[in-house]
Amino acid sequence: MFSITEEIQCYITCITGSRLLPLIGAHVFLALLFFTFYLKARKSLLRIFSFIAAQLFMLFVICTTFFAMRCSQMLTIEIYIAYVILSTLVVILLPKVYYRILIKRYKAKPLTDIIDWPQTFVNTLTEEAKVYYYDSAIPRAFISGKIIFLSMGMLELMDDLELKAVLAHEVWHLRHNNEMPLLRQLSFMTFTQNRSKDEFEILADIFAGEIVSGDAVESARVKLN
Ligand SMILES: [Zn+2]
Repeated sequence: MFSITEEIQCYITCITGSRLLPLIGAHVFLALLFFTFYLKARKSLLRIFSFIAAQLFMLFVICTTFFAMRCSQMLTIEIYIAYVILSTLVVILLPKVYYRILIKRYKAKPLTDIIDWPQTFVNTLTEEAKVYYYDSAIPRAFISGKIIFLSMGMLELMDDLELKAVLAHEVWHLRHNNEMPLLRQLSFMTFTQNRSKDEFEILADIFAGEIVSGDAVESARVKLN
């Protein structure tokens, strides 16, 4: 049996002496780079792609490290298990706290700072959600955690009824977020111009149509074109 200090000693000796070291280093760098992309990316597909890429590079690092070891391979297996647990936790927990990063990044503020009725409207549908706005001309609405984000562009473009439809649509996402496949939770739920064939989008629109009106949902979509 190796003690943990001997294990680490073995690691340092094996890895620094290994010809695989530059390869391992480069892949750790790439994994971190893609993870940064994942945190920064605004497009859903790009986020999912970056996350998967980061995972694959990390797995490659763990495999190459395993082959680089000559004295003991136990620690690699332990690190691997720790890594799997950690990345699973990231997938489960990050979407729940990610809104804090977004509030900072977009310098978002509670919408009640400028108008009250959208928050009051949302309160009639759910008690948990808070509506935030941020300064951007691009009309966008999305949720993260329990926050509904609206861009200034969205607020300016929509009339009251259309904005209600957009808010109801987002509330549906918020209520059903836990039923989403884990991978999809890594992306944003965005109200965009093209109604996708996505079943979640269709259900969110049906809900918004029932709460506000089908016409309001329709004209909100049309305005985004
Ligand atoms: Zn949606």
